[in-house]
Amino acid sequence: MSVNNEYRNFPMVPRVVFGKGSFNQLPSILELQREEGAPFIYLVDDAFENHGTIVERIVLNENDKILFVSAEEEPKTSQVDAIVSDILKEFDKLPSGIIGIGGGSTMDLAKAVSLMLTNKGGAADYQGWDLIKTKSIYHVGIPTISGTGAEVSRTCVLSGPVRKLGINSDYTTFDQVILDPLLLDGVPKNQWFYTGMDCFIHCVESLEGTFLNDFSQSYGEKAYDLCLEVYLEDNDYTEAEKQGKLMMASWHGGMSIAYSQVGVAHAMSYGLGFVLGTKHGIGNCIVFNHLQDYYPEGVAIFKQMVAKHQVTIPTGICANLTDEQMETMINVALSLEPLWENALGKDWKTIMTREKLRTMYSKM
Ligand code: NAD
Ligand code: ZN
Repeated sequence: MSVNNEYRNFPMVPRVVFGKGSFNQLPSILELQREEGAPFIYLVDDAFENHGTIVERIVLNENDKILFVSAEEEPKTSQVDAIVSDILKEFDKLPSGIIGIGGGSTMDLAKAVSLMLTNKGGAADYQGWDLIKTKSIYHVGIPTISGTGAEVSRTCVLSGPVRKLGINSDYTTFDQVILDPLLLDGVPKNQWFYTGMDCFIHCVESLEGTFLNDFSQSYGEKAYDLCLEVYLEDNDYTEAEKQGKLMMASWHGGMSIAYSQVGVAHAMSYGLGFVLGTKHGIGNCIVFNHLQDYYPEGVAIFKQMVAKHQVTIPTGICANLTDEQMETMINVALSLEPLWENALGKDWKTIMTREKLRTMYSKM
């Protein structure tokens, strides 16, 4: 019998808790998963080391351990390998689970560590699609900033020695997610905007893309509307209510692109990230600000949101690039073929030439 793989068999997060204060439920959820002598390892964004109550609310039992990780830079394959090696050296048994508490950077790191504890070699060997062979250990995602959809996706984006690319696999998806809107308290305003706009841009790129289908559209439209409620409309929602809406926008936006694809802003933002180290959220905003020819309605609304929240979107970051840097940026962007095909259709290569891309980057 021939195998028909035309449609992706997409894994979803099997368990999710939502609600203000739901973080307090973590210990009872974890105890059901504990194996004797095998610790839970918490990877926690180091923004919480001296801030808020998250750390004091973590209940450490037996040999459980908290590792603080920096989200200053996006996660690297070498960082994953170092954490895995330290865990394997320190403990006789594989952990009972890995819990990632933070934004996209920390959640992606937690996913990658849980995969690499059971798969041989280094994380860079698995950057790509479906290269993971062995199930990861149990892993939990707890977002503290919303927009990337990393809490729901089947990828964890890593910078490696030769590429920035996710470990995309059915085992990457979290086993459990806790969505507690109160954890979003304290996110710096610009960052709240940049990461939230990642979600808005996911929706626009999915809804305007040629890969659109009913599955993606249903999630994308909901997420888009929620972004408008949070970032544009005047309404009576409390801050906590808005945070809850943003959390669900992030979730639905992630679900939308799972079954379609992102587009021009993400392809070009990956180029900025690779050459200049520009982070995902702000990089998307820098690019999207100039994409009125591709997403006229989305960009007009984006500009209204920028004005409403008085956020600065950097400009001129490509002004002093060397020719070599510009060429690399163009190479990285153009290598993301499915994103261009989604955005511009099958003939995208005739539309998005190197010259065109160079002109666009030089304005950013
Ligand atoms: P982040 O994790 O990089 O964090 C951004 C900043 O916000 C950091 O300084 C962090 O310390 C701070 N922060 C987070 N929560 C906070 C809180 N409650 N209070 C105070 N400060 C807080 O931000 P992000 O935008 O969520 O994640 C970006 C990363 O996500 C990138 O590495 C990108 O590649 C990745 N990403 C992954 C996916 C996926 O599907 N796996 C999708 C999109 C982006
Ligand atoms: Zn994104």
